Amino acid sequence: MAVPKRKTSPSKRGMRRSHDALSVEAFQECSNCGELKRPHHVCPACGHYNGREVVIKRD
Ligand SMILES: [Zn+2]
Repeated sequence: MAVPKRKTSPSKRGMRRSHDALSVEAFQECSNCGELKRPHHVCPACGHYNGREVVIKRD
C-alpha cells in the first residue's frame, strides 16, 4: 500500500482546505408573495414566475 513519506504540515493542510468552504446559496424575495426563493426558479410557495406565469399549486 502506498504510504505518505511525511506528515502533512499545518500549512499544506490549510492550503488544501482553502477550497472546502461551501458558498452561500443564492436567494431573493418572490415578487408575488414575498417568500424567499431561488433566482430564475418558479416560486415554490405560490407558483409564480416572472410576475404572472402560474404553476397551479395543489395541496
Ligand atoms: Zn411566491
